[in-house]
Amino acid sequence: MDKKKQIVMSGIRPTGFLHLGNYFGAVRNYVRLQQEYSCFFMVADLHSLTTHPDTSSLKGHVYRVLSENIACGLDPEQAVLYCQSHVPETAELYLYLNMLAYVGELEKTVTFKEKVRLHPDNVNAGLLTYPVLQTADIILHRAALVPVGKDQEQHLEMARNFVNRFNHRYGEIFPEPQAFNFGEELIKVPSLDGTGKMSKSENQYATLYLADSDELIKKKIMRAKTDAGPAAPFAEKPDYIVNLFQLMQLVSEPSTLSQFETAYNDCTIRYGDMKSQLAADMIKFIAPIREKALLLQQDSAYLQKVMEAGAQKARESARETLRLVKEAMGLNYY
Ligand code: ADP
Repeated sequence: MDKKKQIVMSGIRPTGFLHLGNYFGAVRNYVRLQQEYSCFFMVADLHSLTTHPDTSSLKGHVYRVLSENIACGLDPEQAVLYCQSHVPETAELYLYLNMLAYVGELEKTVTFKEKVRLHPDNVNAGLLTYPVLQTADIILHRAALVPVGKDQEQHLEMARNFVNRFNHRYGEIFPEPQAFNFGEELIKVPSLDGTGKMSKSENQYATLYLADSDELIKKKIMRAKTDAGPAAPFAEKPDYIVNLFQLMQLVSEPSTLSQFETAYNDCTIRYGDMKSQLAADMIKFIAPIREKALLLQQDSAYLQKVMEAGAQKARESARETLRLVKEAMGLNYY
């Protein structure tokens, strides 16, 4: 099948600065896919309302996420880049899908339970139905491939369930969406404190942002947890050391990585040296993206144009899907 015909869809919430996890879990793949596939990428502003009801900084975040995506190499001429709320067909599809989602299964979602724990005073219905809205996003353009990080695996599983339910009940309209990382394991970029993943909204000091200054990158990495070093050759690495090696694998030369692997295995490793090297390589990686994003962010006329053009193309594709959906559901009365 012509790859160009395969549809790719993904999104990122404008809830803060983009970080290394967003880059390696998602945006890097958007960039790799954009030439050969028909790609839709969106800024998921509606999703952010489930956890961030205060919208005073939303506009700034939307512009920032757009500029950071473009600075990472996303080309609005190649991929359709749009903002979720500009395509109201998303909300219509979300409504239909809600009738096919069971409260019991939504309550069991790991991310829902986690968010209830974090925001016990705002357990809103949108939070519960987050996987349904996400399914609407994915299938709005009838996408089959979804480049996402490992944290989204369960949501993709749920999306497949909702899609299969729809197809079974009303007719085969949608392909089964699959998480996509070029046939490799989905990525989870670990946080610097040795627990969990880097994330926009949690443990800020343990997350490396694409907007961090060189000094801040260095400071965060030098603060990362280590210990006195391995006690025996070829010892098993504790989690927080595995994380450092994993980060090094993402941004350093393979020869640098193997040099520290060898030093770990023969117990000569000095974590201070390892962290200094990691900080230098991280700065080399992040600084050019940061500078480019900063320039783009000052050009709001350009970003507006990108959003408008993206919304137009996305709506065209979404309208066709909704036409098929309504026909299949028997909602076409005239
Ligand atoms: P966040 O969790 O930081 O708010 P989003 O929910 O907006 O990020 O997710 C945007 C994309 O970034 C998703 O595809 C998600 O899988 C990916 N992602 C987020 N954090 C990480 C991480 N630490 N490692 C790998 N991918 C991640």
